[in-house]
Amino acid sequence: MQKLTDKFGRQITYLRLAVTDRCNFRCQYCMPAHGIDIVDRKDLLSFKEMYRIVRVLSELGVDKVRLTGGEPFVRRDFMNFLESLAFNDKLKSINLTSNGVLIGQHISKLESLGITNINLSIDSLNKDKFNKITRRDSFDTVYKTLQNLQNSKINLKLNVVVISGVNTDEIIDFIELTKTDNLAVRFIEEMPFNGKGLRTTNKVWDKNTILNHVQSHFKDIETLPHKKSSTSNNYKVNGYKGSFGIIPAFTRTICHDCNRIRITATGLFKNCLFDGGIFNVRDFIRGGASDDDLKNMFVKTVGQKLKNGFVAEAARENNVSESMSTIGG
Ligand code: SAM
Ligand code: SF4
Repeated sequence: MQKLTDKFGRQITYLRLAVTDRCNFRCQYCMPAHGIDIVDRKDLLSFKEMYRIVRVLSELGVDKVRLTGGEPFVRRDFMNFLESLAFNDKLKSINLTSNGVLIGQHISKLESLGITNINLSIDSLNKDKFNKITRRDSFDTVYKTLQNLQNSKINLKLNVVVISGVNTDEIIDFIELTKTDNLAVRFIEEMPFNGKGLRTTNKVWDKNTILNHVQSHFKDIETLPHKKSSTSNNYKVNGYKGSFGIIPAFTRTICHDCNRIRITATGLFKNCLFDGGIFNVRDFIRGGASDDDLKNMFVKTVGQKLKNGFVAEAARENNVSESMSTIGG
């Protein structure tokens, strides 16, 4: 079988696919209050196109897919798409990233489809603060989803973007959630992308700052072994059931064993979160590409993957300014 391997020997096995650029939240660090300029519906990849892309990539060794956005659940027929994707037996895991507002009614269906893992984004445990960050009044719904997911068969990870001076006082509270529950909380370095953010100080909470803060509170922290291609550095407080991790999204210390590619909602193929996009799969498909054409294009493109996110950022023609909602977080 042909495989997707870059010139540094990294094998690509993980696709992050943004199923939409639309969202029902307006998180301060992700987009402005009025939202981003969403594209015409016809410019979004159709589910049929996405299904085909995933099938072809799975024939090249991709066995893990994360569906993200925008908010995946705002796209009509998303559940039907998931159902069809679940038939692909080359996929070992189908994961989702969601803000949790629209998941509630679908949890048992998600379990029966074998969805492996859901990353639920929740940046504050304080209702007013949560609503201020997201610019929507949905804390109660999201918290209920969190509890229901904890009681489900699906592995739950919480995504917490660390926003300097806004939710840094809650880092310890989030870790306390792991005391009695087998829960993984992951703190994400805030990236200065599309949204202006809520930062009240210039101090940036990078991986080291977050870890020092946690270590000044908990004296007995265990570093968990690094799982190959993991996006986070993981730890646990000794005696606690769950774990916590830090995603060095901005300081980019995890690029050496990256196994990921991304496809945006409009079909832009990205070898790295920080590159400007390599080619448009949607246009290639709509231009009549066969499965073999697609395979050859994917193999060639992955061969161009750059060493790390800094090199990728330096090589792009414009500054990184797009929303994570467009890129697919
Ligand atoms: N709407 C879904 C959600 O929020 O979970 C999925 C898409 S969202 C773009 C995916 C992840 O990216 C979320 O956990 C979000 O917090 C994170 N994200 C968005 N903008 C970010 C930024 N500027 N810095 C760091 N993380 C960001
Ligand atoms: Fe929407 Fe997710 Fe961006 Fe928040 S982070 S605005 S929920 S896409």
